Amino acid sequence: MKELSQTQLASVAKIQVAEVAENLDLLSLLDAMRSIIFYVDRDAVVVHGNITARRWAPSRFVIGSFLVDLIPDWRDVNRLLAEIAIVSEMGTASWGLEFLASTHGVEHWFRVDLIPTKRTDADAAGAMIVIDEISESVRTEYALQESEARYKAFIANSSDAIWCYSISPPVDIRQPADVQVQKIMSTAVLAECNVQLAKLFGANKIEHVVGARLHRSRSVSTRRDVAKFVENGYRLEETELQLLTSDGKRGCMQSSAIGVVENGFLTRAWGITRDITERRNYIDKMEHLANHDALTQLPNRELLYSTIERALERRKDGRVMALMLIDLDRFKEINDTLGHVAGDEVLKQIGPRLKSELSEIKSLVARLGGDEFAVFLPSVRSVQQVVIAGHRLLDCLCDVFELQGSKTEISASIGISTCPHQAEDVSTLMRYADVAMYHAKKSMKGVALYDSNFDPHSPVRLALMGALGKAVRENELLLHYQPKVSMERHHVYGLEALVRWNHSHLGFVPPEEFIPIAEMSNMIYPMTYWVMENAIRTNAALYAKGYRLTIAVNLSPRTVTDDRLLTDLSNLLKRYQLPSHLLELEITESLILLEPDRAFAALKSIGDLGVKLAIDDFGTGYSSLAYLKRLPVQTLKIDKSFVLDMLDDEQDEIIVNSTINLAHNLGLSVVAEGVECEAVYQRLSDHHCDCAQGYHIAPPMNDLELESWLKNSRWTSCP
Ligand code: C2E
Ligand code: MG
Ligand code: MG
Repeated sequence: MKELSQTQLASVAKIQVAEVAENLDLLSLLDAMRSIIFYVDRDAVVVHGNITARRWAPSRFVIGSFLVDLIPDWRDVNRLLAEIAIVSEMGTASWGLEFLASTHGVEHWFRVDLIPTKRTDADAAGAMIVIDEISESVRTEYALQESEARYKAFIANSSDAIWCYSISPPVDIRQPADVQVQKIMSTAVLAECNVQLAKLFGANKIEHVVGARLHRSRSVSTRRDVAKFVENGYRLEETELQLLTSDGKRGCMQSSAIGVVENGFLTRAWGITRDITERRNYIDKMEHLANHDALTQLPNRELLYSTIERALERRKDGRVMALMLIDLDRFKEINDTLGHVAGDEVLKQIGPRLKSELSEIKSLVARLGGDEFAVFLPSVRSVQQVVIAGHRLLDCLCDVFELQGSKTEISASIGISTCPHQAEDVSTLMRYADVAMYHAKKSMKGVALYDSNFDPHSPVRLALMGALGKAVRENELLLHYQPKVSMERHHVYGLEALVRWNHSHLGFVPPEEFIPIAEMSNMIYPMTYWVMENAIRTNAALYAKGYRLTIAVNLSPRTVTDDRLLTDLSNLLKRYQLPSHLLELEITESLILLEPDRAFAALKSIGDLGVKLAIDDFGTGYSSLAYLKRLPVQTLKIDKSFVLDMLDDEQDEIIVNSTINLAHNLGLSVVAEGVECEAVYQRLSDHHCDCAQGYHIAPPMNDLELESWLKNSRWTSCP
């Protein structure tokens, strides 16, 4: 502490006594104050300090101390001393000086007011120093300034557009939403923004856009966005919107906004807008890839399903929805003969063809994979309209396909299912359309509408299917035999084995009902095996008795190409010692159309065993002569539908006659089915038909009936 001289001390004491005596009231008032208050003379020697000052000072000896000794941690003390000198000298106060002190590394801020003190002789004697610690408020203010600077920097440097619209006059939020929307639209003005927003608006500088009205924002859906903002409680959360960008294109933006509501009035809205055009384009591209077929660019199965699901949810009463499944016939042949490039070209042309054919109907054309396409019609007038559309699609697919350097033709099978008549969910619609398509293909109808009768999975059918398996395993089936006679010798030469099922509860189930079920399940082969074994066994027994009859077994298309067939046939013939030429297999034309190559190979091997082959139900399918010529068959059976009425129906007779001629030209013999009377028999004979089968000769009979018939009939002579 600086030493005071004797005269100085004497002067201090003099002043103090005088002052105190003069201002007792004032001193007690100062003691009551929370500020630190010193009286100093013009040399900054403390003359008096209030209670707060005395407590605060580091030394007990406040009076007579140099002020600087009481504030050792203060920086810039010289400035304070200079100020004291000026104040003392000039007699004018100095307010709000700020000083920083650093005590043990902690900073303290003080505000200092200097008030000149005058003695009664009017000379400035010194100053009253009022000190208040303001560290807390300085820190708060600094923090505030820092956060404001940070927020300003954040807004300025943000890569997103940040904006604030001010709404003046503020909008009363108790008003109806549409009124609020209207008012916001007409009064909101861009009050603040960063350069990113300016750029979105096609400007370089913020000043060029601030002040712009909201309705001139470039969003293509401003009113809708504002309505959403109001409905959402003055918030928008990552809402996507389209913005017309400066170059006239549409950009995709994502905006979030929050409104400032003060005393029930909306005054401002802050928001952030991010340009997500690239991200949206990328997502759109990914979605397109995920929902479309790469080769044809048509919607794929996923998109078809989701579209149907959405349409089902929104379906209006009275409207019919339909799903068509289209499967190309023999598409594999195009790939095999013309190559995969040509195959791809055909597939690519299918979508546009189908779409142009359906131009007046709302539709979705999809590719499900391979040669399978689908058409979904979300709203049609009637089922008939769908069936007609199906036939039109079939016709358009049958037109020639012009490929690079070649031409080709295809055909297709179309299955249709409808909602609400048949199904009310996607998977059932799909399954039914698939069942119908399979039926269309198998029956060569081209277009088929779903019918539970050809559905292997309809409840009745499922029950029958289960029962059929049991019938085969437990020998519930039986065979009837129907004779076939030679018209030249009027003599029986063969039998057709026809399967029968006498169900314990359902009674007699006609083969037309249970054979399609067997064909759709894997029951068909076991059933056919059962028929073959029993037919061969019966004929072997007749053979042992001296009869020389062929026994004919009907084969479903699928069994002909079954890998087990050839081995099983030759084993059965060996086991029952039946010469192979006394077994005949009846096949239908559809077999050849479905899988020509495999069918040819299988029939050739069967023929090589010595087994005879006949085409059954000839005339009901679409066999082409070219195929017929290549097949290793010996016999054509004219379908009974032509024979039954041939005496009354001239067309039928012409067909019968020309079939006989055709068969003879190809070196085949002809059997006419369904001969119910002598007159037909005679007419067939006139047309040089070779053989006949029908109720006129004999109905299908069980073993016992057959044996007695063989013994007694005029068509036979006992061996
Ligand atoms: P399909 O092979 O054409 O058999 C001839 C059908 O004509 C038999 O009917 C027979 O009872 C019937 N029929 C015979 N003569 C006459 C006649 O003069 N007038 C009339 N209106 N009908 C006559 P069924 O036994 O009901 O057999 C129907 C069809 O079921 C057969 O037609 C055949 O396609 C199939 N089927 C029968 N048994 C088997 C079998 O074991 N396996 C396979 N895959 N199919 C079989
Ligand atoms: Mg037959
Ligand atoms: Mg037949």
